[in-house]
Amino acid sequence: MGDGYNFQQLKAAILALSQAADLEVAKKEWRLVDISEADEPETCLCGHFPIIELCTIANAATAKSVDVGNVCVKRFLGFRSDLIFQSLKRVRADLDKAISKDATAFFHERGVINDWEYQFQQSTMRKRILSQRQLEIRRALNQKVIAAVRRRGLS
Ligand SMILES: [Zn+2]
Repeated sequence: MGDGYNFQQLKAAILALSQAADLEVAKKEWRLVDISEADEPETCLCGHFPIIELCTIANAATAKSVDVGNVCVKRFLGFRSDLIFQSLKRVRADLDKAISKDATAFFHERGVINDWEYQFQQSTMRKRILSQRQLEIRRALNQKVIAAVRRRGLS
């Protein structure tokens, strides 16, 4: 492939941590459970270096979890974790912006934002002009989301 992402290597590593021996079946055991950012670049399961945006995926059948990069999450699970990181960057730069639909769904599922905030996001996400009160809620929600994504340093 030559792009540093070795899918065969990823596949072998994932299968070793899965119950199923077939990749298509094994896929169903895995889901994205967390995202974080590394202070020091890390190496993905596929061998790609560097990765900074880390996605923790967990296997429901074997209780194993592992960190991979955005490209492999997309390739393996078809999940656009890169869009969540994009959203994070956006609101870090400007708290008045809203996080995207994907990010809203992810952080709601993770319990970072509650049902009420989820509904609030659904109804105000596309609005550029908010009331003062709505703007305060959006900012608080953004801060919660930013705080929820751990930075992982060397310990
Ligand atoms: Zn990878």
